[in-house]
Formats: sequence, C-alpha cells, structure tokens
Amino acid sequence: MPNKQYLPVEIAIMSGTGLDQLDKLNNVEQITMNTPFGSQSAPIIACDYFGTRVAFLARHGRYHELPPHNVPYRANLWALKQLGVKYVLSPCAVGSLQEHIKPGHIVLCDQFIDFTKSRHNTFYDKDQVYHVSLADPFCHHLRQLAISTAKTLDFEFHETGTYICIEGPRFSTRAESRFFQESMKADVIGMTMATECALARELELCYLAIATSTDYDCWRGTPVSAKMVEDSMKTSIKNVQRLLEKLVPKIPKNQTRTCACSHALKNACQTLNKDSAQR
Ligand SMILES: [Zn+2]
Repeated sequence: MPNKQYLPVEIAIMSGTGLDQLDKLNNVEQITMNTPFGSQSAPIIACDYFGTRVAFLARHGRYHELPPHNVPYRANLWALKQLGVKYVLSPCAVGSLQEHIKPGHIVLCDQFIDFTKSRHNTFYDKDQVYHVSLADPFCHHLRQLAISTAKTLDFEFHETGTYICIEGPRFSTRAESRFFQESMKADVIGMTMATECALARELELCYLAIATSTDYDCWRGTPVSAKMVEDSMKTSIKNVQRLLEKLVPKIPKNQTRTCACSHALKNACQTLNKDSAQR
C-alpha cells in the first residue's frame, strides 16, 4: 500500500526504450510503493499529461540498467494496481519479422507468442491457482481506441500483429529469426511485452501494446545491434508520443469498465480437490 495518499491516477504508461524523456509534465509526484514482490524498476512519476493524470514507470529503470529478464514485472504492475491504475499503455521497441513492417512503423499488436524461459509470469503460484484466459491478450476497447486515434495521424501503423517475446538479453540467431518469421509467422520480436501483458491480465488491468519497429532483426541479413535500436527509436519515438498525446485524453475516466480484462479472474480460479482430474 502507498505510504501516503496520492492524486487519483487510472492510466499508466510503461516507458521503455526511447521514451525516457518526456516533455510537458506538470504537477509531478514521485511515488515508490511497497509490494510483496520488491521494488519497482524506478520511482513512479505521476503527473498531468495533456489534461489527464498519468503514472509513468520506466520499465528498464531510470538509467536503463535493467535487462529484460531482470525487470521486476510483478512489482511494477502490483504497484500500479495499488495506485488505482486500470489502463496500462505499453510502448516497446521491436524488431520486424516481416518485410511490410518497416523500421519506424508502429504495430498495435493483437497477439503474442511467449518464448521466455525463466520469468515469474504469474501472481498466483502459492495458495490459489488461477488460469486466466489470454486468448485475446490485449484490451479490445483500448486497441480500438488506439486504432481510431492512429488513423487521424500521419504515420505508418499496422492494426494487428503477433509479437514473439524472447528471453534476451541477446538478440536471435539467424536460425531463430527465420524460424519466428517463416514457421511461426510472427510479425515482430521483442523481450518484455508478453510477461508484462500476462501479469496485467491477472490483475484485471487493461493492457495495450504499442510496438515500434526499429530494425529487421537478423533474418534479412544485417545483424541487430543495441545502437541500431537506440538510433532508430530516437527518430521513431515522436510518433509514439503523438499517439499517446491524442489517445490518453480519450480513455474513459471514472467509469466502470465492461471489457473482458476487467473481470479476468471471474471463473479463473481452480479449486479442485485431490480426487479431481487435472488438466
Ligand atoms: Zn480492457
């Protein structure tokens, strides 16, 4: 629980690669929450953002010191939930696995495939077992709002896309990249989003992924480098910021949500006795 009372905040933005510098922040509160899962990646920055109270959390730490497998995903999302957040907007840098998704394009993902191996990807691993549905992992309402907003702006974006989440921090081998592209038919590849999204669903948070393509991974010939990703995001991040500036004010405030995310735990708790068959 928070140590003190903060201004109400319903929207969080997980700021990732390239979204560390934000302008026009007013009425700023810096918040650190105690959680059963330890500390957050960085202090949460709550502020007025284009007329709306928003909580920013730097996923990789204030100085980008946390690699993807060491991000405290559970502490981050738990803290946001305790603050009253309902909507999590998640910009992320990705590699493109398809020719038509060019560097600089934004993908409003509608599916993911999780190839991570060693992460805490549930809150329910002790006394109770919950099997939440992630058939549709992203909030339908947020996606539709983001799509309609993006259509009013003049950058290239894709309404759907499947995200492959790998463990990292290394980039893929060529064989892996071709496998993800040709056999799995995925569209983009990254290292954070699937873990974050699944945990958000367990907390009944609405989650939207805003993936920005920075490169063509290595399937197309050129090996990826961290500098390539960073340089690409410097030019692409403006479009993500423009989308967020238009999208955030449109998200309903102080309203009861009706989307599936808002009652994800309903009927998800498994209470089998020891004689019952398990799946
Ligand atoms: Zn939702």
